[in-house]
Amino acid sequence: MTAQLPSKNLSADQAIAALSTQSQPRVSDAEMRQAVRTLLIGLGEDPDREGLLDTPKRVVKALKFLTSGYHQSLDELLNGAIFHEDTSEMVLVRDIDLFSSCEHHILPILGRAHVAYIPNGKVIGLSKIARICEMYARRLQVQERLTAQIADALQGLLQPQGVAVVVEATHMCMVMRGVQKPGSWTVTSAMKGVFADDARTRDEFMSLIRHSPTFH
Ligand SMILES: [Zn+2]
Repeated sequence: MTAQLPSKNLSADQAIAALSTQSQPRVSDAEMRQAVRTLLIGLGEDPDREGLLDTPKRVVKALKFLTSGYHQSLDELLNGAIFHEDTSEMVLVRDIDLFSSCEHHILPILGRAHVAYIPNGKVIGLSKIARICEMYARRLQVQERLTAQIADALQGLLQPQGVAVVVEATHMCMVMRGVQKPGSWTVTSAMKGVFADDARTRDEFMSLIRHSPTFH
């Protein structure tokens, strides 16, 4: 399968919109269930035993939910929730739960995102920041790309003075198999505008995401 890359002469918004929407699935649910059944047989299981009878159906349904972000776009997700506002103070949404799936093993990536921006005339509904994270998380991902996509989306939508995204996550493909390192976390960041250029702004963001809230 080849991903459709947006052509070079699109605006930032159009490019983001193009990347947000993928074509419709080309295989039927029945074919997907059959593939899961084949996997079960390959694993040495009997897909006709009682406990596994509905497993192909359930696996297909679960995987479709976990990748439902492919069928969402920033446009429909935002539903106009961008407002003009003359503020230039940092907006930070911390501790956004992330449930994603790694594209190498289709195993869970569990983590948290911290997202900040400094407005430049436009602000976005706070809940929409979490929804943007969720849309990109519900795709097959690598953590680096997930982090960059969240930052690029906010940059494209708001043209703010800067965007900072930090994602901290643990990868089940590292914890349950391979190097089997429970407790290992991967931290990725994407800094744009003033967060990239100005160490003081970046430090303020980093100290705000480290500080434990008193209401916890
Ligand atoms: Zn993996």
